[in-house]
Amino acid sequence: MRIGIIGGGQLGQMLGYAGRELGFDCVFIDPAATPPAADAGEVISAAFDDVDAITALAETVDVLTYEFENVPVTALEPAALKCPVYPPLKALSAAQDRLSEKRLFESLDIPLPGWHQVDTREDLDAAAAKLGLPIVLKTRRLGYDGKGQFVIRCEDDIATAWDALGGSKLIAEAWVPFDYEVSQIATRGVDGDIEFFPLTHNQHAGGILRYSRAPVVVPALGEAARDAVGKLLESLDYVGTLALELFVRDGGLLANEFAPRVHNSGHWTIEGAETSQFANHLLAVAGLKPLPAPAVAHAGMLNLIGTIPASAREVVNEGTVLHDYGKSPREGRKLGHITVTASTPEIRDAELARVGETVTGSTPRFETLE
Ligand code: AMP
Repeated sequence: MRIGIIGGGQLGQMLGYAGRELGFDCVFIDPAATPPAADAGEVISAAFDDVDAITALAETVDVLTYEFENVPVTALEPAALKCPVYPPLKALSAAQDRLSEKRLFESLDIPLPGWHQVDTREDLDAAAAKLGLPIVLKTRRLGYDGKGQFVIRCEDDIATAWDALGGSKLIAEAWVPFDYEVSQIATRGVDGDIEFFPLTHNQHAGGILRYSRAPVVVPALGEAARDAVGKLLESLDYVGTLALELFVRDGGLLANEFAPRVHNSGHWTIEGAETSQFANHLLAVAGLKPLPAPAVAHAGMLNLIGTIPASAREVVNEGTVLHDYGKSPREGRKLGHITVTASTPEIRDAELARVGETVTGSTPRFETLE
């Protein structure tokens, strides 16, 4: 089985490693000559919108998939005539535009924060009046890790936000004073079988994921998250792994966004779940059944951002694993992650705090999950 993967970043690399274990041959398209995935398979050096390169790859593989959601849908359409492209393009298209994403959530009765479409300055004023401040103004397309976002806290911020983002198609969202954030990852196979991963707790700073912990054992939340993701997967006739990010507020869930791909908040599944999100993605796109993925430990993950200090290598022990993607350091760039696994949530949190403090110099405060 030869699997073409658009994108050779760390997600591609981890897909490639999983593919190797499953006996699949992964080949990547990436503009960089030696992206992280070069460790895990052949890389065809081409841009993500290079229709000819993508179509040519589609002729040599059994199935095509992608590891990031900003591949233009039009660049994949000709390929889809040559081989299956999973996740399906309608999922990619919905995830690329926050407006379609919100309409999709609404059509499926998935609860979400209040929102308002913003194309003009008048729309922004209307959004502030309708939703009440604070609101978050976001670009509809190409936002990630909190980029393309502006929090409007008071009337005076409205003009500044418009200067910063006006001109792009935008959406305004009610600010959610959430208790914490979670993500629900699941994989759906070609025949419709769904395997859910345990619910994961996520802590962000500056819009970037810093820490994930799993499993979150709050039965009512788990049930609601699986219900929302199940509806999304069915309605999109989805194949592969999908991640839905949600806010938890007063014991209820509000959908933030979904990613039609493997996700940073699921990296812990490599060590902490019976099957990883990467293995299940590949099994599904290859037309095989995804495997059950219960937690096999209490796991925690710390992202290594901007730098991998020497201390990150020193904290490693039997239950604490460093993943170095082999990328060159740059501010704000995800260069690697560390996963800890433990027999109880308390031991996991203590070890994750020790690792976090050693590596970042500041002690993480972990919220209680209830
Ligand atoms: P996003 O790119 O939409 O996932 O936003 C990145 C992060 O910003 C989220 O994980 C939240 O921590 C925060 N954020 C985004 N939207 C909101 C909102 N409507 N209310 C509160 N926090 C938000």
